[in-house]
Order: sequence, then structure tokens, then C-alpha cells
Amino acid sequence: MSGASRDMAIDKARDILAEVSRVVALTGAGISTDSGIPDFRGPQGVWTRDPNAEKLSDIRYYISDEHIRRKVWQDRLHSPVWQAAPNAGHKALVSLEMQGKLDTLVTQNIDGLHQLAGSDPSRIIEIHGTMREAVCMSCGARSPMQEILARVERGDGDPHCEQLIDGRACGGIIDAATISFGQNLVEEDIRRAENAVRMTDVLLAVGTSLAVYPAAGLVPIARSNGAAVIIVNGAPTEMDDLAEVVVLGSISDVLPLIVEGS
Ligand SMILES: [Zn+2]
Repeated sequence: MSGASRDMAIDKARDILAEVSRVVALTGAGISTDSGIPDFRGPQGVWTRDPNAEKLSDIRYYISDEHIRRKVWQDRLHSPVWQAAPNAGHKALVSLEMQGKLDTLVTQNIDGLHQLAGSDPSRIIEIHGTMREAVCMSCGARSPMQEILARVERGDGDPHCEQLIDGRACGGIIDAATISFGQNLVEEDIRRAENAVRMTDVLLAVGTSLAVYPAAGLVPIARSNGAAVIIVNGAPTEMDDLAEVVVLGSISDVLPLIVEGS
């Protein structure tokens, strides 16, 4: 996209946002890459470069193989997420919320950066869960991820649940509160996201290739309910044909320009 056509696309997106009162944002990995968190599925993604890496996020291997779990816990301990700060893209969505326009923020990200940026947690739907919480796969007990990582750091390489049940530790396998390959999304979260999209004036899709369902399916739902679709991404997406306007570029550069003064 040339500089001139990008400027025109930014203006058009800004004009659309200026005229509406209700926006649903859908964000994907692309909004967090400028915070130093790699996009696992993108062209330079870890999974793209190392197909075996995908095993590490498949729930079946995680449950059955202690070595996989130990490797995953080390990866979690050293994840770039713990050092990452929200960038101008996350902050632009906070600003849209301050303008009273952002109704719901649906995110495919598990990094929790929208909350850190200051987005209202009650408006956020994390359809792939969050890596800031841990959950026991047996009893369902939840705890802050940092508490479990502290145990890993102290040498417990495959931590198990310490929740007391009838006076005995549960002992279940602990996982991040995220949706892995082989696991279903939370039905209630999807329904809530779809309902928000049915009521919205604009669906603003940011940093997602719109190739993974059901998140990608929110675009046709928006269209069939008369909402305008704005796509902001670093590369073309699967749904560009359904968009009113597509802005290609660095998200932390262009999103503040689109939201500013709308
Ligand atoms: Zn448990």
C-alpha cells in the first residue's frame, strides 16, 4: 500500500468511526507484536519456522507427556509476555473506550495487554483465554500464573495442583487458562462476542489475519447485520473483500491516527 493510499484509507476509517456510536473491536496477535510478543502463526512465527513447536501447545501431548509439560513450563517462565508493555495500538482502543464508543473488545490474544493498557476488563472477551491465570485440569481451581511460575522457578518443573480436597492435595495437572489445540472455545464467550457484533455499528478488526474461526466468522455476522467493517493489519487478510476499508501498516502507527478525534 502506497503512502497516499494508506492516508486515504486512514481518513476513510476515521470518518466512519466519527459517525457511529457503537464499535466492537476484534484484536489478534498483530496488535501485540510491537510490544515484543512474537506472532506464532505469522510468516515469521515460531510454528511456521518449527512445525514441532505446535506439539507444545496441543492439549493431548500436554496431558500425556511430562517432558512436554516441563518444556512448556520453562517456555512460560521465560515468556516475553512478562516483560511486555502495552503499545500505542492497545492505548488507541482505550481512547476509543474513553470516547464512549467501544462497546466490546474481543481478543484472540492471551497476553492480557489490553487490561494492562487500561481497557475495562468487563468489556473484554478473551476467546482464547489468558496466560495470566493457571487452572487445574482436574478440579478446575484457578490461581495467578505468577504463583505457579514461582514454584517452577524454585525447581518444581511439573507443578501439580495443591488444592485440598477432603484433606488431600488434588494433584491434578496444571495448565495455563488458555485454549490449546484440541480444546473447544468457551461457548458462552463466543455467544457474547456474536451478540455484541450483531448490535454494533462498526466491527474494527485489528492485527488478525481473520483466518481462524470462530473469530473470523464475526466479520460476516457484522456485515449481515448492517455493520461496517474496518480492517487494520500488517498484511492482507482473508476477509478484506467484506471490509468497507482496509488499512495496511504498522498497527501502533496507524491505529492511533484512525481513533484520534473520531
Ligand atoms: Zn486441582
